[in-house]
Order: sequence, then structure tokens, then C-alpha cells
Amino acid sequence: MTSNEQLFERAQRSIPGGVNSPVRAFRSVGGTPRFIQRAAGPYFWDAEGARYIDYIGSWGPMILGHAHAAVVQAMQDALPRGISFGAPTEAEIQMAEALIERVPSMHQVRMVSSSTEAAMSAIRLARGAAGDGSRRKVIKFEGCYHGHADSLLVKAGSGLLTFGHPSSAGVPAEITQHTLVLDYNNPQQLQDAFKQYADDIACVIVEPIAGNMNLVRATAEFLRTMREQCSAHGALLIFDEVMSGFRVAAGGAQALYGIDPDITVLGKVIGGGMPLAAFGGKRNVMQRLAPLGNVYQAGTLSGNPVAVACGLATLKEVARPGFYDELGKRTRTLVDRLVATARRSAPGLAFSGDSVGGMFGIYFAAAVPDCYADIIACDIERFKRFFHAMLARGVYLAPSAYEAGFVSIAHDDAVIDATIAAAEEAFAEIR
Ligand code: PMP
Repeated sequence: MTSNEQLFERAQRSIPGGVNSPVRAFRSVGGTPRFIQRAAGPYFWDAEGARYIDYIGSWGPMILGHAHAAVVQAMQDALPRGISFGAPTEAEIQMAEALIERVPSMHQVRMVSSSTEAAMSAIRLARGAAGDGSRRKVIKFEGCYHGHADSLLVKAGSGLLTFGHPSSAGVPAEITQHTLVLDYNNPQQLQDAFKQYADDIACVIVEPIAGNMNLVRATAEFLRTMREQCSAHGALLIFDEVMSGFRVAAGGAQALYGIDPDITVLGKVIGGGMPLAAFGGKRNVMQRLAPLGNVYQAGTLSGNPVAVACGLATLKEVARPGFYDELGKRTRTLVDRLVATARRSAPGLAFSGDSVGGMFGIYFAAAVPDCYADIIACDIERFKRFFHAMLARGVYLAPSAYEAGFVSIAHDDAVIDATIAAAEEAFAEIR
């Protein structure tokens, strides 16, 4: 048997850091990443045969659990018909119709292969479609992530209402100079930004329920102000629902808050684990895209038939009556029991939790955070120790205090009981 350690050593010779996406390298928690051999339902198994309860769910897509029979069958049916055509299929229409039906603010939708692409394209479209097409500025919020397009790899500048600095080498400052980074849940600052840059703002992009600074809910006032300001100034509102879409409710966060964005970005659950993402919006906006309009966007594998088969089968399962009620109940039970267990096993420990639908956050802080500054004030060292204490007991949380957790419909009562039993010991260990 090859150990995780041996695989990690070998991986680092041919792959930078041994991983194809940075958080998998475990650098923020230390230790050796687990190399996954297979997965089923709520579990996966590593190279050494150890089983883990999985609360990452491929960072969101695996809402039905791993290797769901109907999804695997749909892909097996699709495969012999061909893997990729570069020509349209009827299944793509079905997929578009299924998305539009459940997210009614989208009149039309275009499919791509990753959510980075979807968010990047949505911003290009917004710049091309807002006003007379000459607006340059994009507003984003600290702690939200929209993939790794150059202009979005930006951190807040010093002082309010200054433009952001690149957060990655390889991104010239000229490329982020039109990206304004504001505080999440701060409606006043947003109003000030609109006052200052008014007709040069093309769009505001936001995670309406943030999952990239752990889980942080937007306040209703924050989103309402955003909608009002965008409408008043002719800017477009983009909801990045890559994480929250088909995860917090069938219609995403926009259904929970009752706010219609102009453009919605989707990914993760809609592909069921295959590379598929999408962006969609109002008809007049979407018609600005090539081939109808002059905003260019394309993709060799966009709408890939196997990915679409996987996505369609997943969407069919989540459309079953009561799916989100059940998923939300289980997730809430998990979080409430974790908080109660912490109180019991580690009295006085600053620990809190929150959940919306099938996503959750646990925080080493006394109260649930509501912005990025609150999140970075959490006790990260405690989180690291808790992460490893849980991992050692067969529970795989996201290896970073800045990531939300995900529950699937395969996480039943027995799985939650086992998680709580592990947490009881883990909290006592880190007390
Ligand atoms: N938007 C959000 C809200 C995300 O959470 C992510 C990825 N976690 C992305 C965009 C980018 O997605 P991808 O990694 O699939 O390109």
C-alpha cells in the first residue's frame, strides 16, 4: 500500500506543491493531504484505506453525496453516445430550461466549464452592457471570491474607496485599477462609492451568502441597498451564486432574499461534480453576447454532453419535493449539536455556528461573524487543532478556517451522530 505521505512526496516532483488547487495542500492547517481513492455517499477513503465523513463535498457540488446511482447511470448512458462534439445538443437546451425555470431572474443562460470563466464572462458582459458600454469600474467585496480572473485578484487598498491592489504576482496594477473593494455588509460605504464613481460603475458583484470567508450571510439591508443603487445609477447587479445556487434553496440566495439580480453566476451543484458552470440574466443583457452582440465569449468544451448529463441528473434529484427542507434540517441539526457539544466538552470555548440550507460555518469566535474583519479575528490556531483532531477521528472538514462546509442528502442521522461523537473528543482535546 502506498501511503499518503509517499504519494505527496511523489506528487511534489511533478505538480507544483503536489496539488492542482492550493487549499488541497493543507498548508493552512499543516500536515499531509489525504489522497482520495474512492468515495460513496457521505464518505471517502484515502490511499491508506482510511474512511472519512466528507464535509467538503468537492467544495460544494456533491449535494447528493458521492457516486449517486442515478447520476452515475446518466453519465454512463451519455458516454457511449460521444464525449464532446463542439456542436449543440438537445440536452443543453434541457439544462438551460431547467436553470431558468428555477432561477426566474435569468431569462437566458450560457454554459461554460468553470465558475472562474463564468464570473469573468459575467463581468465582461456587464461592462459591455451597462450604460453605453464604456463604464470601467467593478465593485466587489472583501472576503468574496469570484474565481481567479486577473481583475478580480485584488485586495482592499489602504483607506476607504481607494482601488484595490493585486493579490497575486503576475497581475499588473493597471489590471486591477478599476476594481473597487468594499466591506461586506456595509451599505453606507456602498452608497458613498456610488456617489463618488456614479456613471463609471459597470457592475457590483457579490456572493449574496458568502462561502469564501467561511459562511457569512449578507444582511437584507445590504443587498437591498445594492439593488437600489445599481438600478438608480444604471449599473448591473451580479449575484455570484456559484456556492449558494441550488445549495441554500432551489432558487438560490436570491429566492431567500427576494432580490432579482441582473446577472447570476452558477456552478458547483449545477454540474453535479463535472466541470460545468453558467451565467445568465435578463434577456436584453444576455443578447449583448456573441454571436448576437459584440461582447465576446466562447469555450471549446462549453456545454459538454457528459457534464450536462451529470448536471441534469443532479438537478432532477434536488427537484424532489422536500429536498431542501430535509437538507436544511440536517445541516442545522449538525451545527446546533456541534455548538452544544462544544459547550459541554469545552466550557468557555469561544465557538459558534451557522447554516443556510446545505451549507454551514463553524467559527472559533463567541458570536457568528458578519464581515471579513470578524472572520480574520477568529481563533485560527484552535481551528487548526480542531481540524486535525477531527481528521484523526475520521471526519474531514475543509482544511481552512476561511471555507464554508457542505452537507449532502446522504449525511443521515447516523453520520451526524458519528460526527458529534468525534467532536466530543476533539473539543475536549483542544480545550
Ligand atoms: N465563485 C464562487 C462564489 C466560488 O466559490 C468559486 C470557487 N470556489 C468560484 C467562483 C470559482 O470557481 P472555480 O474554482 O470552479 O473556477
